[in-house]
Amino acid sequence: MLSALLVMAGIAITLGAVLGFSAIKFRVEGNPLVDKIDAILPQIQCGQCGYPGCKPYANAIASGEADINKCAPGGEEGIRKLADLLGVEFKPFGGGTVLKPKSVAFIDENLCIGCTLCFQACPVDAIAGAAKQMHTIIASECTGCELCVAPCPVECISMVAIEENITGWKWRYPVIPIQAAG
Ligand code: SF4
Ligand code: SF4
Repeated sequence: MLSALLVMAGIAITLGAVLGFSAIKFRVEGNPLVDKIDAILPQIQCGQCGYPGCKPYANAIASGEADINKCAPGGEEGIRKLADLLGVEFKPFGGGTVLKPKSVAFIDENLCIGCTLCFQACPVDAIAGAAKQMHTIIASECTGCELCVAPCPVECISMVAIEENITGWKWRYPVIPIQAAG
């Protein structure tokens, strides 16, 4: 009886070790396609696509649940890159919101009461301030996601469009290679 118990315990331990080893050895680190899609998305976590952040939207695209044209901050350039990656047709922006010019938030510091609600809402730490102290936007960090605008109880945050100038100008259209004649 005792030997039978020992044999069974031995088999159980061996099987457990094999399963444990396999789980480590053959584990898949995330979904490579989701990671590639997520790498194209602007990581603003603004939720304008209807998903609670860029990674959930990337998951939805990879599973076929969502279309590639819902990311407003990514704009047409982002849609083109996703279309190229997935080998599908480019589609004009079709998310729930309108494509807006790139913008940054601006706090009217005379009105700010230092409630910190905007500070808590900002997903990229682009707001400097402390409780009961004036808050201000770090424009170079702001992604224009607008998540800080709604929580402000005194409505002192506005969005300012970024003026396009030669330093920020980019060629937006796909470069079509010219085929050599003959
Ligand atoms: S400051 Fe406002 S608009 Fe800018 S990234 Fe933060 S939450 Fe978004
Ligand atoms: S939410 Fe408005 S009032 Fe509150 S700290 Fe931010 S800017 Fe100031």
